[in-house]
Amino acid sequence: MSDPSAVADDSSNFIRDIIDADLAANKVSKVVTRFPPEPNGYLHIGHAKSICLNFGIARDYHGHCNLRFDDTNPEKESVEYVNSIRHDVQWLGFEWHSNPFASDYFDQLYDYAIDLIKQGKAYVDSQNAEQIRENRGTLTEPGNNSPYRERSVDENLQLFEAMKNDEYADGEHVLRAKIDMSSPNIKMRDPVLYRIRHVTHHNTGDKWCIYPLYDFTHGLSDAIEGVTHSLCTLEFEDHRPLYDWILDNLETPSRPVQIEFARLQLEYSLTSKRKLNALVNEGHVSGWDDPRMLTISGMRRRGFTPESIVNFCDMIGITKKNSTIEMGVLETALRDDLNARATRRMAVINPLKVVIENYPEDEEEFFTGANHPQNPDFGTREVPFSREIYIEREDFMEEAPAKFFRLSPGREVRLRFAYYITCREVIKNAGGEIEHLVCSYDPESRGGGSPDGRKVKGTIHWVSARHAVRATVNLYDRLFTSANPGAAADFHQALNPESKIVMPEARLEPAIELTGNPIAYQFERLGYFISDYDSSSEQPIFNRTMTLRDSWAKIEQSR
Ligand code: ATP
Ligand code: MG
Repeated sequence: MSDPSAVADDSSNFIRDIIDADLAANKVSKVVTRFPPEPNGYLHIGHAKSICLNFGIARDYHGHCNLRFDDTNPEKESVEYVNSIRHDVQWLGFEWHSNPFASDYFDQLYDYAIDLIKQGKAYVDSQNAEQIRENRGTLTEPGNNSPYRERSVDENLQLFEAMKNDEYADGEHVLRAKIDMSSPNIKMRDPVLYRIRHVTHHNTGDKWCIYPLYDFTHGLSDAIEGVTHSLCTLEFEDHRPLYDWILDNLETPSRPVQIEFARLQLEYSLTSKRKLNALVNEGHVSGWDDPRMLTISGMRRRGFTPESIVNFCDMIGITKKNSTIEMGVLETALRDDLNARATRRMAVINPLKVVIENYPEDEEEFFTGANHPQNPDFGTREVPFSREIYIEREDFMEEAPAKFFRLSPGREVRLRFAYYITCREVIKNAGGEIEHLVCSYDPESRGGGSPDGRKVKGTIHWVSARHAVRATVNLYDRLFTSANPGAAADFHQALNPESKIVMPEARLEPAIELTGNPIAYQFERLGYFISDYDSSSEQPIFNRTMTLRDSWAKIEQSR
């Protein structure tokens, strides 16, 4: 489960310690990092951790960071993903030094492969995929040498060139490094460096029908770019000897080092592009930017700010040990940021009409409301009031317990900014459903002050019916009910059926902006909200970014 010790409280970490030592020892003069996504999906919160680490180090050490597309699997990659990744990195507030594709280096990589062949350190293997797998051995058994392993350098050069020149079908041959089939590290058992794939590549088109594999490409791309510290997640630890072998056996312009750190795993979420892709393709969400997705684009649409995501990454820190972060950490980072940033407004999501019988029918008045309770720089706005208002259905109870400090027959509440009202009558339809309430107001209580010192415990929010703007409000909750949906045999079973609730009859106070750049709002007592991309002034749509308090903590405690 979650490990609170995984939440580091300072920005220093073991990687920065390594860099400090490398600088002190003059091993490097300028720190160069890279963030290397594969353009096979949209970036998610896990990638944000890597972005903050790589770009943050480059910034703090006055070095630079490249955004490199690691595009060696043409089947799965696309320009749509390339563009979304660029947008997301910029939106998070980072600037890259350069933005190459690994595929830009295919010519150089081909030459490096030739070099290995000439040194007798790579060979063309003509076993099929099945045979290669069978001969690789297991964790306890060594592998078997390929019958093609002792091909001459000339034969290998000829075959590799013919592979490049489109003379063979997919899978007929591969190029392998000649290392050690009995190495305890399976990655070192003559890993495949190149394979034949007759697929159009999003960047190189049909120029190539052979493609280098990740391990061959990655370290060499780092070396070509002058990356000093190549930071990757822990699952690449056993790739490191291969990373080093390739760089140690070739003359490269620089010699980077690979350092691994723990992947972000977050409760109640998936951070695997493959699984996120399945959610999109199977229609469980509306797209990669569905506000319930913890993709950067989904979080943006949901109302996360870049600052809240960067702060979250600082809060969790960088460690060498995998652990799961509580969702509450992300939610706290978001609430803290929005609390300072959000403009306060009143909105009623599930409206119940209230008629104030002693308030004149054609009268209206305006109360001045602060836009932010702690920050006068936000200014004020005028909040209209009239005889008919809406309150939240949940703020009324016909048979209320003594501790219900909201509205019920005969009881009095304070309307935020306005007056005290007392419920006089409950009007129902033929089916017995409550249609509206009749209340009276005390003119002496204007502004919410107590005229005779009498105590009114509850304050509720409201919107003037005549002035209100009708809107749809989407209430979002966690997409999964299980803290570790990725561990389930089938993550579909963990989908939360109530992760999106649509409230089509919401009423907003008129000072809420419906057009232009979305503004972060706090709807008082309800949470933080932002207008959706599909919102218009004719049909306003707001997304709930987050509730004001963590309602899940209570649920979990009561289990
Ligand atoms: P996925 O499994 O979602 O496809 P990936 O690791 O294959 O993830 P890449 O596009 O290869 O995705 O990742 C780019 C960079 O982001 C890599 O350096 C990778 O280590 C890092 N990264 C990906 N997921 C996480 C995560 N959950 N936490 C931290 N870093 C991550
Ligand atoms: Mg990957």
